[in-house]
Amino acid sequence: MKGQKSQTYGLIVVMAVFIMVCGIFIYNYPDGKVAPEFIRWRHPEAASGTIDTNEDLSQEELPEEEVLPNPTATILAVGDIMMHDGQIWAGYDEKTDTFDYSEFFHVVKDEITAADIAMADLETTLGGKEQKYTGYPMFNSPDELADALKNAGFDIIVTSNNHSLDRGAKGALRTIQVLKERGLASLGTYESEEEREQILIKEANGIKIAFLSYTYGTNGIPIPKDKQYIVNLIDEELILCDLKKAQSQADAVVVYLHFGEEYQRTPSKAQRKLAHLILKNGASFIAASHPHVIQPGEWMEVEEPNGEIIKKYTSYSMGNFISAQRFPYTEEGLMVKFTLEKDLKKNKVYLTDVREIDTWVDKFVRDGKMRYVVRYGKKP
Ligand SMILES: [Zn+2]
Repeated sequence: MKGQKSQTYGLIVVMAVFIMVCGIFIYNYPDGKVAPEFIRWRHPEAASGTIDTNEDLSQEELPEEEVLPNPTATILAVGDIMMHDGQIWAGYDEKTDTFDYSEFFHVVKDEITAADIAMADLETTLGGKEQKYTGYPMFNSPDELADALKNAGFDIIVTSNNHSLDRGAKGALRTIQVLKERGLASLGTYESEEEREQILIKEANGIKIAFLSYTYGTNGIPIPKDKQYIVNLIDEELILCDLKKAQSQADAVVVYLHFGEEYQRTPSKAQRKLAHLILKNGASFIAASHPHVIQPGEWMEVEEPNGEIIKKYTSYSMGNFISAQRFPYTEEGLMVKFTLEKDLKKNKVYLTDVREIDTWVDKFVRDGKMRYVVRYGKKP
């Protein structure tokens, strides 16, 4: 008992001394600065007086500053997803009365999925079964086409083209809904004015990218007066206004256009003029389709407001990604994969790489039915 008591007494004395020492220390250095003696204990060389005792020593113990690599985002764009009569029935199973279009993209699926963001133009509507499924000239396709696009790895589906209103405003609105239900973002057609005003922005590896899309027209089908927002038409004033807004909300802007002359293998003056205007006003990359054949792309040097010259690109026509068209060159298309890199020092995003991957639509008969598969390369 006695031994235990003296042990407790000893402990109290030790604690009291410790508290006193701490108290003196805090009293002398209330601002948190460490006493020089303390530093000498940690850094014996300080005793010579060569070290500034006020410098932040925590910095010294860190390894050399690491230079972080610039983040990049890869975006893949393809041309028109057309849905002619032969294609509609290629995916039909009579036994189960169901549709499945996964065979269309199964060969190129990995390339699409590998991109951070993948986009395609849907040149048909998803107006529902009651509206009857038809190919050219007024397209309406089964919803299962949207499933196939989602499964292939696409993220953004451009819906502003000359076939947007093939089943009227009702069809255009239903198309947006069907895409949304599958987690796909529709671009270029909208359910309301508020939705149109909201710029589509996707983030990849810390890079914020804004997407805009416009079409030259809707095949003469008038846009309802009370639904002017439903499809984005090419209108310079509107585009410049959207570009300004998009730049204020994102690091880079990508524009998808539906324009040009059908079956022309070189871009027209009007196409180039519009593309140059868009690139000069903030977009980094323009993807485009509608001619149903490939048109060569073009790099452009643009002078920034600070005098810096930067490179931008227009892919004037990526051709058909999938279709049943058999006119010359309409069976070929491009997957255009481009890279946006964020220069961390300048806090600015640059287009650093553009790669064009050739594709073609293989058509063959199996079980008495025509089949369609997108394959790599030029048409053999
Ligand atoms: Zn078109």
